[in-house]
Amino acid sequence: MCLKEDQKREEIYLTCDKRSFAMLKSCLTMMCLGYAGGILPSGILETIDHFFSGFPSLPKSPSSQNEIPDYSLPFDFLVIGAGSAGSVLANRLTENPDWRVLVLEQGNDEIFLTDIPFLAPILHSTDYARVYKSEPRPQDANGQGGCCLSMNDGRCKIVSGKAVGGTSVVNFMIYSRGAPADYDAWWALDNPGWSYEDVLPYFIKSERCKLIDRDARYHGYDGYLDVTTPPYATPLKECFLKAGQELGYDLIDYNGDRLVGFSTVQATLRNGHRVSAGKAFLRPIRGRSNFHLSKFSTVTKIVINPRTKTAVGVEFVKDHRTYFVSATKEIILCTGALSSPQLLMLSGIGPKDHLSSLGIRVIENLPVGFNLQDHVSMSALTFLVNESVTIVESRLSSSPASFMEYLIQGTGPWTVPGGAEALAFINTKANLNTTRRKGSKFKSIIQDVNIRGNSEQHAWTVPNITSITVDRDTFETYPNGNRLLTEDDYPDIEILLAVSSLAGDVSGIYLSLLGLTDDFHKEVFSDYEGFDAFTLVPVLLRPKSRGRLTLRSSDPLDSPIVDVNYYDHEDDLNTMVQAIKIAIEVASTRAFKRYNATLLPVPFPGCKHVAFKSDAYWACVARHVSTTIAHYSGTCKMSTRKNSGVVDHRLRVHGIDGLRVADASIMPTIIAGHTTAPAYMIAEKASDMIKEDWKDSVP
Ligand SMILES: Cc1cc2nc3c(=O)[nH]c(=O)nc-3n(C[C@H](O)[C@H](O)[C@H](O)COP(=O)(O)OP(=O)(O)OC[C@H]3O[C@@H](n4cnc5c(N)ncnc54)[C@H](O)[C@@H]3O)c2cc1C
Repeated sequence: MCLKEDQKREEIYLTCDKRSFAMLKSCLTMMCLGYAGGILPSGILETIDHFFSGFPSLPKSPSSQNEIPDYSLPFDFLVIGAGSAGSVLANRLTENPDWRVLVLEQGNDEIFLTDIPFLAPILHSTDYARVYKSEPRPQDANGQGGCCLSMNDGRCKIVSGKAVGGTSVVNFMIYSRGAPADYDAWWALDNPGWSYEDVLPYFIKSERCKLIDRDARYHGYDGYLDVTTPPYATPLKECFLKAGQELGYDLIDYNGDRLVGFSTVQATLRNGHRVSAGKAFLRPIRGRSNFHLSKFSTVTKIVINPRTKTAVGVEFVKDHRTYFVSATKEIILCTGALSSPQLLMLSGIGPKDHLSSLGIRVIENLPVGFNLQDHVSMSALTFLVNESVTIVESRLSSSPASFMEYLIQGTGPWTVPGGAEALAFINTKANLNTTRRKGSKFKSIIQDVNIRGNSEQHAWTVPNITSITVDRDTFETYPNGNRLLTEDDYPDIEILLAVSSLAGDVSGIYLSLLGLTDDFHKEVFSDYEGFDAFTLVPVLLRPKSRGRLTLRSSDPLDSPIVDVNYYDHEDDLNTMVQAIKIAIEVASTRAFKRYNATLLPVPFPGCKHVAFKSDAYWACVARHVSTTIAHYSGTCKMSTRKNSGVVDHRLRVHGIDGLRVADASIMPTIIAGHTTAPAYMIAEKASDMIKEDWKDSVP
């Protein structure tokens, strides 16, 4: 425990392992002094924080979260989990003043430490995260197969958020919705109302877009969620974007209708600070008298009447006491792709054989926990550079000026979300010559505008698509526009530019987040410790492999068994090999030559027997360094029963009344993007469906 304060004053429990403490100590001297040494009372820091961040401070109204709701009275709606999706639901359902809504959340409120974008990687080792280990998938007797082989105990680290705001409090803040084709595929799986055309308005509804480079048609401007470009970037961002152009890719707004191309990251930030779901969707409504939030409340069971098959309430544990609270209308499960299936199964909804084997009475036999999907990556692809253009931990921590810049101006290196500055979405199977250089009506208009705006532009200039004022009538609106898209426009990999690396990770924070062994780090990076280096992280966007989540026991406090099963399907491995090679191609462009970007010349442990940089070598590396960007989804699949669905297209659990699931678990197939924006969209749409279903009810 490194920080502990009185609970009444929004206390903070930050459990830090040795490494994270080292990082905190070196990087946050000022803040640690403030808290641990008592030099600055937390109230002052909190005020400063709220002042600079521009967020309203927490009202101390009678309805605020500090008051314990009367659980003996029924609520209209119970929302389980105040995470990314749950926060949206709480906000939208309490828009109806006649509905009493109780949100039950296991975690605590976030604090100003979680606001700091560059600190995102450290948060997995605090009380704001829940950390599991995946089931081991060792190689077979012939040395084939397996995943997570270079991780501690051969198990990947499975991180999710435990806070008011959920995983959006610990994530890397990248805002990315996925491809139009993703949602059209959901629709095609017997899910009416979920095509891209159907869901786009819900993305737009949430958003308060402050992006400069954007396709204005696809963004919202009046929502709760700030989406913007990080205010600071190293010179490497521009190198990366130029590298993309050099290779023939366009610079795109990846939340528009064209997914293949290069871009700066779009992130959920305000004044350089994290905007979590809690800040965006809950803080503005804390004064609503019909909104009740119970923190530190672990739901252990959804109580279902086995005769009527109706969900009537939930049991939860708070301060070592067990409570029961009932719902007169509905219970909405928003505990995420790892906890939602767990809670359903604990409550008797799940695969019959599995539940019976644990002595759990089966109420509804459904394929809960199957269809687990994630975006596996390879986060150790390191490139050394010959100038101080990266963010190196030791340099950053010895620069109080940088931290003051963050505090006072909301800019500087601390605002880079987890170190990620730019990304590329690529289709490895596309015919590069035709698709990369292919023009479209949209693109030619952008170029026209840019050329008009800046006649000095040449091939090396990053186009400033800011200058577009979109005349909506000029464009064919979706879906007509989308019909022009082909499979080649649907990315199967992403490459993330991280402007730091495992070489500079002196405190071991990244290593710890990724779950790689100390031996791995020592063997690969010890000769390069503290060097300036960046990482290109190839990510597999459309995995064919499927994992599964099961219960370890009928004890709700036991962690579930998570079998990620990365690279079970050989195609996934082949695509990752291509992704790694393309990332190397990106780093080998003229753009990166400026800093003499050089692939770290060290073969990775476990793969030294294979020719360095050969396809077989990268395949071996992928199975060893099977890192993840933690996009768990799919475990309560939305589809018909016939298609192995757990919830129907209105997110109602098949066969059970009064119970819906609305979070990342319902995605039938993982989207080719990041998963928070879709979680918000799912919750926005769920809220509308619930309002529609109860519109004629008497208060
Ligand atoms: C390190 C990391 C980096 C990431 N980076 C990005 C990124 O940059 N961009 C992006 O789009 N996505 C990112 N993700 C993924 C993304 O954040 C999640 O997919 C998304 O937030 C999931 O939203 P959700 O609503 O489904 O669940 P969550 O946001 O996880 O919400 C679930 C909530 O339920 C609560 N809960 C769980 N069990 C119980 C219980 N029994 N009782 C009461 N409450 C309970 C949890 O505490 C949590 O608050 C990242 C994830 C991680 C871990």
